[in-house]
Amino acid sequence: MTRVAVNGAAGRMGRTVIETAADREDLEVVVGVDVADVDGVGGVPVVDASEVGAALAEYDPAVVVDFTVPDSTVALADACVEAGVGMVVGTTGFDDDGFATLEAASDSVPVLKATNFSRGVQALLRTVRAAVGALGGYDLELTETHHNQKVDAPSGTAKTILETVQEQRDVEPVYGREGHAPREDDEIAVFASRAGDIRGEHELVLAGNDEVVTLSHRAEDRAVFAAGALDAAAWLAGRDPGWYEFGSVVDGE
Ligand code: NAD
Repeated sequence: MTRVAVNGAAGRMGRTVIETAADREDLEVVVGVDVADVDGVGGVPVVDASEVGAALAEYDPAVVVDFTVPDSTVALADACVEAGVGMVVGTTGFDDDGFATLEAASDSVPVLKATNFSRGVQALLRTVRAAVGALGGYDLELTETHHNQKVDAPSGTAKTILETVQEQRDVEPVYGREGHAPREDDEIAVFASRAGDIRGEHELVLAGNDEVVTLSHRAEDRAVFAAGALDAAAWLAGRDPGWYEFGSVVDGE
């Protein structure tokens, strides 16, 4: 049974991870960490983020699942390196320094970071690679929609789709259009919508003059991300230090 800690335990994703883990027999959430003033979530004790080092020492998890904000993940990385605990990072919106801190942590502990822990999005990324490769010269446009509390834009998943496109085609992102804004051949517009409690929608349009291909994914429940993150935690536990990809979990490598 893999012992798991959850950073951001009181948040939307943290709570969903704890709920989802309750139905699993291969792992157990032993402690949560948050800055919010809560004692527990779903029967799991939650300690204050200022005590994260002591919590890792006391509860001895193999892996921490993190859905918080970049500053928190960066602080967590130090504590995980200190305690020799692996990291599954779902938080998005890192700047270069934050990303570099996580990469440095992976010299000491196993780190698996994904902007999207749904298996459907993994399949979408593979389809994007194939479609963009096959449809050279088609216009590309990317739209993502999320709930009205999301703070980073465009979404981490949209950035991953964009990077996947750019592996195949040299396109420049344009973030929205306004006024006189004729489309250039080598651009891809990226649009971010925020409304209601939408879990996450992504759509890539590939348009030639006589046909349109639309590749889209819609998450209907946060449980899909929680299940993927927990699969990643079970998969990561006991591995050597290093940087790992969610695609390897999906492929059962
Ligand atoms: P949320 O705001 O509901 O929850 C974040 C939690 O982190 C809150 O409880 C907050 O109190 C806590 N927190 C803030 N600072 C902290 C600190 N220093 N230490 C410990 N806890 C701290 O947000 P959410 O909707 O749960 O999303 C969290 C992150 O996960 C976002 O970056 C979001 O984009 C990302 N996300 C990723 C995936 C994925 O599949 N990778 C899926 C959904 C959301």
